[in-house]
Amino acid sequence: MSYDDNNIFAKILRNEIPCNKIYEDEFVLSFYDINPQKKIHALVIPKGKYVDLDDFSQNASSNEMVGLFKGINIVAKKLNISVDAGKGYRALANIGENGGQEVPHLHFHLFGGEKIGKMVS
Ligand code: 5GP
Repeated sequence: MSYDDNNIFAKILRNEIPCNKIYEDEFVLSFYDINPQKKIHALVIPKGKYVDLDDFSQNASSNEMVGLFKGINIVAKKLNISVDAGKGYRALANIGENGGQEVPHLHFHLFGGEKIGKMVS
């Protein structure tokens, strides 16, 4: 699947539509999910144009990979949900149709602030 420049997260990255920003650096943007599923529900997205985790794993540079995973850790700490600062959280990426991915720009969901419960329902 090729990258769709008109997906909603691409528009957020271009500042064409607003987001409730948590964190931004050279590699990632993080903002709150518009439809939170848990007490804390953040999204962390790479700035590069990657459709999903498979695309990212195959095509991202080493710096982008490190940047994304460091970004997740920075956001978790900022939100006080990390194991150090809080009681932990769930990081989840939906991939493709069977994975239930709706927005075709790679994103990790961070769920926290309460017990997240069953892994798959
Ligand atoms: P997916 O199902 O692709 O893993 O998750 C997409 C997520 O993006 C959903 O949790 C949905 O609520 C969120 N989302 C969709 N549109 C917007 C938007 O315009 N702004 C924000 N902040 N989140 C969005």
